[in-house]
Amino acid sequence: MPATDKQGETMDIRTYGDPVLRRTAKPVETIDDEIRDICRRMVEEMLRADGVGLAAPQIGIPLRIIVLDVEGEFHVLINPELLFVSEETETGIEGCLSVPGVHAEVARSAQATIAGTTLGGERVEITGEGLLARAMQHEMDHINGHLFVDHVSQVKRRSLIKEFERKKRESEE
Ligand code: ZN
Repeated sequence: MPATDKQGETMDIRTYGDPVLRRTAKPVETIDDEIRDICRRMVEEMLRADGVGLAAPQIGIPLRIIVLDVEGEFHVLINPELLFVSEETETGIEGCLSVPGVHAEVARSAQATIAGTTLGGERVEITGEGLLARAMQHEMDHINGHLFVDHVSQVKRRSLIKEFERKKRESEE
């Protein structure tokens, strides 16, 4: 998820239409050098793109890894699971580094708790509300092959995709 409207350098981030974004990512079996390297690249891409979160499929890797950098909360989580989402929802403007240039109002649970494993092999639980809860749900969606545009009406989704494709064409010209 991007932090702002600012368009960072996102050359290595897979965008809408790439099939890797629609796959259900596989669990990580062993935290080895390859996994540590993937996490390092994910953090680099997130910071470079000024994002608040990123999931491994967004850099073309279909594994269950997410990184978050929201309001001072920085996490690298391997095999994250959503433990709790509140019934209470909150609507807010959302965007995605994989669908650059477009934003939409998306309703998400106002509070969420996820659990996962750190690079050090420690199991942690993170509870958040507001933007942190939103980012957690957004990144969990990614590892299940879902995108934020799946949460809006079909009509709205078509117009968002059209806008994304138009901006993409313009930036390629
Ligand atoms: Zn995203």
